[in-house]
Amino acid sequence: MTTPPEEPIDPVARLAEASARLKAAAREAGRESDVAIVVAAKTQTAETLTPLLAAGHRLFGENRVQEAQAKWPPLKARFPDIRLSLIGPLQSNKARDAVALFDEIASLDRIKLAAALAAEMAAQNRRPDLLVQVNTGEEPQKAGVAPQDLPAFLAACRAEYGLSIAGLLCIPPADEPPAPHFALLAKLAARHGLARLSMGMSGDYEIAAQLGATEVRLGSSLFGPRG
Ligand SMILES: *Cc1c(COP(=O)(O)O)cnc(C)c1O
Repeated sequence: MTTPPEEPIDPVARLAEASARLKAAAREAGRESDVAIVVAAKTQTAETLTPLLAAGHRLFGENRVQEAQAKWPPLKARFPDIRLSLIGPLQSNKARDAVALFDEIASLDRIKLAAALAAEMAAQNRRPDLLVQVNTGEEPQKAGVAPQDLPAFLAACRAEYGLSIAGLLCIPPADEPPAPHFALLAKLAARHGLARLSMGMSGDYEIAAQLGATEVRLGSSLFGPRG
């Protein structure tokens, strides 16, 4: 007996399926507004991503500035309305490159980085949207502002650096149920009048949608496990 060849993964079909599940989850929770999907494109080639672009998808996330610099300028030239989000940690010395390439930076988590971004935004006259990453699980190895430090951090971003913050992002601890973390992030956003909530990944995006996510970030559910 021969084993049939494995079906190749079709990210366009999987995106449509994820989108339908997301809509259903949001509707079940009584939410009217759509939840956007940020395609987490790390390690994926332009060749893999092009069918998604051809199908009309425009919102993508990358984790590393250098990888994004190699991949996206030619794609942006072909599809000028791409929105590229930096969802991975950013070093202050890469702020210039990040502001030049990304349409939003969703990993703001330190005053030093806020200062570097503010300076680059002024110098380049570019205003990428900014999301603050919150370390809801207070994990020592994880990036993000601790929840109790968020009020002072937001105040400093606004008052000292003139930065307007669009929303919050979190990555819950891998070994805990995500719902309390999503609920905490939603509470913090509401308390500070922040509209956008980037939360939920392949394993938990429906829960995130029910708890108020305005965008989820999907990688492996679209492309299969990363090698
Ligand atoms: C890779 C990545 C994702 C996507 O994770 P999956 O579990 O593959 O969907 C989401 N957010 C961030 C910050 C990531 O680095």
